[in-house]
Amino acid sequence: MKMVESLLTKNRCMTTSKKVMVIKGLMLHSVGCSRPDAMSFIKNWNNNSVSKCVHAFIDANDGTVYHTLPWNYRGWHAGGSGNNYLIGCEMCEPDCITYIKNATFTCSNLERAQKMTTTTYNSAVELYAYLCQQFKLDPFTQIWSHNEGGKQGFASGHVDPEHLWTQLNMPYTMNGFRHDVSVAMGKSIDTSGEKLPKKVRVRVDDLNIRTGPSTSYKKTGKYTGAGVFTIVEIQNGIGSKKGWGLLKSYAAKRDGWIALDYAEDV
Ligand SMILES: [Zn+2]
Repeated sequence: MKMVESLLTKNRCMTTSKKVMVIKGLMLHSVGCSRPDAMSFIKNWNNNSVSKCVHAFIDANDGTVYHTLPWNYRGWHAGGSGNNYLIGCEMCEPDCITYIKNATFTCSNLERAQKMTTTTYNSAVELYAYLCQQFKLDPFTQIWSHNEGGKQGFASGHVDPEHLWTQLNMPYTMNGFRHDVSVAMGKSIDTSGEKLPKKVRVRVDDLNIRTGPSTSYKKTGKYTGAGVFTIVEIQNGIGSKKGWGLLKSYAAKRDGWIALDYAEDV
């Protein structure tokens, strides 16, 4: 990830408010207009008459991250109480889309738009992994999109960035983003030497089965009593140093995972 310091020293978020916040999470945005060039936002926003501001812009041409506001300064991006405790970063959007009404747009070059969107997504994953590590945040429970924040009542009712991904037929989702951030945090498990499927013995009396590879996923059941089980896939995730194993009996729907910290190879 290439990060460039471009603090908006003339923006009101820096000149007047200078309110330091306790960081409780990260919000992901996309700019909602056809402007891939991060510097064009920075030029416009580095101005004493502008009070809206974000902590970083991600350029859609090359993925460069421009750091625009000290991470612990209160920003002006969520349109709700989230501004008081969330870092907010904007992904720039492709130059070949045209907004026609609200969040709906047309696209003149899908391949180009997808390439630019992949570029900003990948940089956002790296940036959010860095921020989670820096501020000890859990990627599964402390990252929201603007869209999610609006639905949960701490942001305005915008639909970014999911509206961009959906309309460009990208495979990205916020759940996928959170997962990718956790992998980028260096917590990925090296499974190259593993032969899967493999059998493991559970060492504890009751072990939760969760719908995904992290303690932030719902419990779907519990194993009671030690036993031997077949693992068909291993993924990293919060809450288990040795990773999470997908149980064979849940393999079709991929919704039954156990923490391998509590299991040993048979
Ligand atoms: Zn937004």
